[in-house]
Amino acid sequence: MFKKVLIANRGEIALRIQRACRELGIKSVVVYSEADRDAKYVRLADEAVCIGPAPSAQSYLSMPAIIATAEVTDAEAIHPGYGFLSENADFAERVERSGFTFIGPTPESIRLMGDKVSAKQAMIRAGVPCVPGSEGALPEDPKEIIKIARTVGYPVIIKAAGGGGGRGMRVVHTEAALVHAVQTTRAEAGAAFGNPEVYMEKFLENPRHVEIQVLADTFKNAVWLGERDCSMQRRHQKIIEEAPAPGIPRRNIEKVGDRCAAACKKMGYRGAGTFEFLYENGEFYFIEMNTRVQVEHPVTEMVTGIDIVQQQIKIAAGEKLPFTQRQIEMRGHAIECRINAEDPVKFVPSPGRITMWHAPGGPGVRVDSHAYTNYFVPPNYDSMIGKIIVHGDTRDQALARMRIALSETVVEGIQTNIPLHRELMADAKFIEGGTSIHYLEGWMAAHKR
Ligand code: ADP
Repeated sequence: MFKKVLIANRGEIALRIQRACRELGIKSVVVYSEADRDAKYVRLADEAVCIGPAPSAQSYLSMPAIIATAEVTDAEAIHPGYGFLSENADFAERVERSGFTFIGPTPESIRLMGDKVSAKQAMIRAGVPCVPGSEGALPEDPKEIIKIARTVGYPVIIKAAGGGGGRGMRVVHTEAALVHAVQTTRAEAGAAFGNPEVYMEKFLENPRHVEIQVLADTFKNAVWLGERDCSMQRRHQKIIEEAPAPGIPRRNIEKVGDRCAAACKKMGYRGAGTFEFLYENGEFYFIEMNTRVQVEHPVTEMVTGIDIVQQQIKIAAGEKLPFTQRQIEMRGHAIECRINAEDPVKFVPSPGRITMWHAPGGPGVRVDSHAYTNYFVPPNYDSMIGKIIVHGDTRDQALARMRIALSETVVEGIQTNIPLHRELMADAKFIEGGTSIHYLEGWMAAHKR
């Protein structure tokens, strides 16, 4: 096992990784920007090194600064967390070439999954169900494009191979609009992602977002740890996640979960990963794979009792997965609410000093957050300041615990989306379960938000 791990991230995930390291008896080095000087994980770290000013490009995205810090602190491995450099194949390569272990998949896997066209082709080869669409990137010839769309059937969605974060997509309803839409998406993708390739998928009108968590070691063992329903989204940003997904027959989930684990073995995947699917009319359709730990990983930890971050570290250290698929048991129900520093009505960020922070507690309640009373939320980064996660024997119990947890939570000095969460936890449709990815935006429009 490693003696020292460098955490190349910030915020709640930096603290989360640090906790995993401590439990494994590993010393942690954190890198931080000038804006994060007072962060909790900086204070708790065995070593902390300031690597630059607030802008991410000069700190959390600076590969030379991070690798140099690993060198001077004698760290053996680097955990990239999520966001920032976590899905950057060049970074993973540079880390390994500099003699450190990258806690994550191989650069080849990251690259394969980072290009959505190659990812989808790999999934088709591995027998993972995908959204019907073009076979690979769209050709130049407009006639060919029209032909493909007729086979797929309208509406279709044009997506950039290099897209991410909900950008680089365009829905097309009619043949008249098709060719222009392809050309525009290509031009935008070229400018935004440096890759003009686009592909076509059938546009699913009212799907849910259901994803499968996997873990794979370097001995070709791979397991899946159940699913998460992350359909509560605004502008493709998830805000509530839960496990298991309400109302989906277990045999459907098991079938797709087994396919995901088999795909990992086939691809020689290592580490933690997530297969994201759209789910409609009883069918799963793969949309993309994330080759890192996800924000919402705790709901899976709560129902399986497996520490995903510790497993990432152990896999990177060359250990075998300590369980087989049969030994993984799902118990009860877990829900996560992401707490964002933002105006709950206008959704604009609300950085600044937290004058009062009181986190909830009690049975089945977990809070992953780096915030505290007097903490200054910097304006430079993502607005998420923490996550409240609850577990119950049933979904009803989890919902009740979340309502209590939200009522106990106090955050003063800045605005947060806690009032929105309180309303959603009392919403009849959400309580019923199984709402689609469009539900929240519709709800907000109906509530004049
Ligand atoms: P990104 O990497 O930008 O997150 P995804 O491929 O994961 O891109 O898609 C993001 C979101 O776009 C999905 O969660 C869904 O809301 C919507 N979307 C993507 N593909 C389709 C599709 N074929 N039909 C309907 N909605 C889609």
